[in-house]
Amino acid sequence: MNLSEINHSLVRIACYIAVLIVLCVFEILRPYREPSLSRVKRWMDNLGITLVNNILLNLALVPLVSASLAYAGKARSGLFYIFEFHFLLKLLLTVIIMDFLLYIWHLLNHVVPFFWRFHRVHHSDLNMDVSTATRFHFGELAISALIKASLILFLGIDLVGLLAFDVLVLATAQFQHSSLRVSEGFERWYWLLFVPPSMHRIHHSVIIRERDSNYGTILSIWDRILGTMIKNVDQNKIRIGVGAYPDFIRLRFLSLLLMPATRKIK
Ligand SMILES: [Zn+2]
Repeated sequence: MNLSEINHSLVRIACYIAVLIVLCVFEILRPYREPSLSRVKRWMDNLGITLVNNILLNLALVPLVSASLAYAGKARSGLFYIFEFHFLLKLLLTVIIMDFLLYIWHLLNHVVPFFWRFHRVHHSDLNMDVSTATRFHFGELAISALIKASLILFLGIDLVGLLAFDVLVLATAQFQHSSLRVSEGFERWYWLLFVPPSMHRIHHSVIIRERDSNYGTILSIWDRILGTMIKNVDQNKIRIGVGAYPDFIRLRFLSLLLMPATRKIK
């Protein structure tokens, strides 16, 4: 691992822990919903998965992403090197384009059965809070990292752009998964451009029509433009999870690791 890889990983981890602590405190002080399951047990599983993923990613895939960054910079490969935008415009475009591609990737995770095998690990959480934001199967993250490495080469993304995007995605994902009581006025305003917890709560509903909507991570405009946004749902009636997995006892750490290889479910 070289110095830029270490710095990139450290910044991401530091931001992740800071946002985790702040949101966790607010979830206790101003909860949207009291948890129906033991928070300690769920957090052990969710943060256990997060830790294992981070170790594997840093060993196997961060060097690949860094190699793409280094190559793109050295060979001046990718669209941003052809058009030579102003630094700030390039940063803004990096975040907007990568967020749109993340929207497409998220949608594919729902409609392609092979990808859903991995993505259902994230959706199977029976309560939703800040710890759900990083409950992903390593298989899904590995495929994402391969796509990201290719996009760096194709678009010509640099370290600053990638770091800005990664930190924003992580922080917004933590916020939209949090079980935090947010004022209705703020949510109405925030929903115009971004993804508040209420919008993403619909995405975690056991009702498949609701689950297959609201795919956005940073911006809500992609769902609005492409007709995948669902808004008018009684938030208090949303049941979180995947209908085929109602038992918490079968959703512990090891079962989650094996889930992609088990039977096909909707
Ligand atoms: Zn999803």
